[in-house]
Amino acid sequence: MPLLGLLLTACSTVSMTGRKQLNLVSESEILSASLTEYQSYMKSAKVSSDANATAVVRNVAQRIAAAAETYLRSTGQEADLQNYAWEFNLTQDNELNAFCMPGGKIVVYTGMLNLIGNGPDRDDELAAVIGHEVGHAIAKHGNERASQQMLASLGSSVLGAVVANKSQQVQQAVATAYGLGAQYGALLPFSRKQELEADYIGIFLATMAGYDANAAITLWQKMEAATTTTTAEFMSTHPSSTTRIKQLQKDIPTVQAQLGYTPAAAATTKAASKAKTSSSTTKKSSTTTKKSGTGYKIG
Ligand SMILES: [Zn+2]
Repeated sequence: MPLLGLLLTACSTVSMTGRKQLNLVSESEILSASLTEYQSYMKSAKVSSDANATAVVRNVAQRIAAAAETYLRSTGQEADLQNYAWEFNLTQDNELNAFCMPGGKIVVYTGMLNLIGNGPDRDDELAAVIGHEVGHAIAKHGNERASQQMLASLGSSVLGAVVANKSQQVQQAVATAYGLGAQYGALLPFSRKQELEADYIGIFLATMAGYDANAAITLWQKMEAATTTTTAEFMSTHPSSTTRIKQLQKDIPTVQAQLGYTPAAAATTKAASKAKTSSSTTKKSSTTTKKSGTGYKIG
């Protein structure tokens, strides 16, 4: 296919923000490459043995995933739902990191959970992290980033040929985009536009799930403070700035008003979710001892 035709057909739109994006690779190829990358990560990762902390992460992640599904369903993107087989994991790693691969594979590192701490805003801040990461996934930033990676490394002249037969290149581009395959070198950061978009989708999903999206602001402030003393992979791929916090401060009241969020309703949701977490913790204590690399699935 000529390059111009290719670029035209590869251009799609992010539904929540209306931004045009260039996705050169089919969703099925991205999903397949992402699954390979995720499985390889999970094989080498150490899954947390802390049943309580794992239940906390899974509870919040499950609510965010449910919100994402509701969002896709209510915006005519039902077809995308088949691409998600959600899995929620807490892995033992001191890095401040979290990610959601295409297809809904969510991983939070214990370093991130420890930074958030055990205060009253714990679940709200966790919802901000996970909402942001799921935002990258439902806006198909993985495809966009892998496409950019392929363009950068291969050049437009050979792109047509590459797109015709490219599973290995897609695998490499996905590995580079997510930085989980160290052999492929430096991690490709998300762009500023993608970051702001994920922030916006994140506060939207967190609000839909009943969390206080204002926690996104305190979370980024904690992250910034922490990076002066520790190496933070998350921060190198998720550049923060005062502009970003200003944008959040502007968007959060708008989104909360749009979705009819009230602190009273959120308190009810939190109480219900807390009761659910503690009961599922006791119930799950037998299953968490098994090698839970495959995580927990919904839907
Ligand atoms: Zn991000």
